[in-house]
Amino acid sequence: MTGKCEGSTMATLTPLDADTLTSLAAVFSGVLLRPGDPGYEEARRVHNGLIDKRPALIARCRGTADVVDAVNFARTNGLEISVRGGGHNVAGRAVTDGGVMIDLALMKGIVVDPVARTVRVQGGATWREFNRETAVQGLATTGGVVSTTGVAGLTLGGGLGWLMGKDGLAVDNLLSVELVTAACDVLNVTADTNPDLFWALRGGGGNFGVASSFVFRLHPLRHVVGGIVAHPIAAARDVLRFFRDVTASLPDELTVFAALTHAPDGSGVPLAALALCHCGPDDQATREVRPLLEFGAPVLVNVGTIPYPVMNTILDATYPFGVLSYWKSSFLETLSDDAIDTLIACFHTCPSSMTGMILEHVHGAVTSVGVADTAVPHRQPGYNLVIPSVWTDPAATSDNVTWTRATYRALEPYFAHRRYVNYLDADEGGEAVHSAYGPNYARLVETKRKYDPGNLFRLNQNIAP
Ligand SMILES: Cc1cc2nc3c(=O)[nH]c(=O)nc-3n(C[C@H](O)[C@H](O)[C@H](O)COP(=O)(O)OP(=O)(O)OC[C@H]3O[C@@H](n4cnc5c(N)ncnc54)[C@H](O)[C@@H]3O)c2cc1C
Repeated sequence: MTGKCEGSTMATLTPLDADTLTSLAAVFSGVLLRPGDPGYEEARRVHNGLIDKRPALIARCRGTADVVDAVNFARTNGLEISVRGGGHNVAGRAVTDGGVMIDLALMKGIVVDPVARTVRVQGGATWREFNRETAVQGLATTGGVVSTTGVAGLTLGGGLGWLMGKDGLAVDNLLSVELVTAACDVLNVTADTNPDLFWALRGGGGNFGVASSFVFRLHPLRHVVGGIVAHPIAAARDVLRFFRDVTASLPDELTVFAALTHAPDGSGVPLAALALCHCGPDDQATREVRPLLEFGAPVLVNVGTIPYPVMNTILDATYPFGVLSYWKSSFLETLSDDAIDTLIACFHTCPSSMTGMILEHVHGAVTSVGVADTAVPHRQPGYNLVIPSVWTDPAATSDNVTWTRATYRALEPYFAHRRYVNYLDADEGGEAVHSAYGPNYARLVETKRKYDPGNLFRLNQNIAP
């Protein structure tokens, strides 16, 4: 149903709604889906299988004009707006119950300028699609650790990934954003045109409008040395101490994460693993990765020279679409022996063989940007601990959520009271959002008051005006 609304579903609207919907359908280039329409059930689903919301209308936009009309339609009818980029956010705020879901899944245009080393990407692309287009030009920039996340949501919240030690966060490579605002203006936001808004978009999430496209800076990169080194869980303490020691002085090109996890082959064997990516020249990479391969007695060493887009997929299978998910996360400035022992003790009581606990090490280019230079304040070296609980049996939901919360509480004494906004789950509100922005929160509120005083864009990690 492109640009049209079926009579059967329109009959359920009030006359005013039906009139405005007919007007929208007359001009809309994309697809308008109402409950009962073919494709509606699939379109309302997001990555986290716990999310089960039913929008009154899904507006699958094909371009910026569709986004403008969808925002205007929702605003005129007083309907809640949700914005879906890649649909990956664990909190599920890409979907609204009873409002208008502005779905960018059809907006996947990606145009690389190999001379300027930039790329323009529309708001519905995933990192897999992004990497495919940039890689054919021998270029890349920091995206997520897995390839299935959306470029839009990940970037607007900051964007941690394999290349961040050398190239910074995704936002640090952002050059401009085409934004549909609450007033339905289309702004080409850059550091020159709207410095306040450009600052806020680099970390402030979906609070300021719908990003219909982004322009990123790219860097020459064809392949990396990367992969996984897995040790028996009995070696977890030694592995995490070794991880702490090597991350004290890593070169910018080398990013290393540690995880207490389970073998992804279905056996459920618990493991202490290191995941690594070196994006420097071959001889430097070989030399600097070697100590990670030679440590201890690993049960698996799967590290080699691989194209960067492949590196970006090596953990994809760990997070299949539709699995039930509940996350907790926080930063640790240091990894003390006590923190390591608590992590291991908690992991031993984990109820799901799909769950891991991951320490994402942050260093290098991320930390050379000032705390107030972008809305993302996390510029100190350290570790982002994420506990992405994953399970498939709905009957196990309570056990998994309870374990995740208890584990988080047990680790609280070691946290730096800083949170990454993109990892906050649906049960975390004002206080967690404050922790996500720290000293930048007040400036974000000021910018929100200027560009969205009525809080039209509120179904997100909300910065209340
Ligand atoms: C398996 C998995 C792995 C992850 N790995 C990483 C990682 O390595 N690094 C990292 O930094 N994060 C990671 N994340 C977190 C990820 O950054 C967030 O979930 C992010 O919100 C995903 O973006 P999305 O576009 O897919 O999300 P969506 O669910 O589509 O959107 C999330 C929110 O972002 C906003 N939004 C999305 N698109 C737009 C837009 N075009 N305009 C305005 N607002 C918009 C909206 O507020 C929306 O509610 C991961 C998440 C998962 C589930």
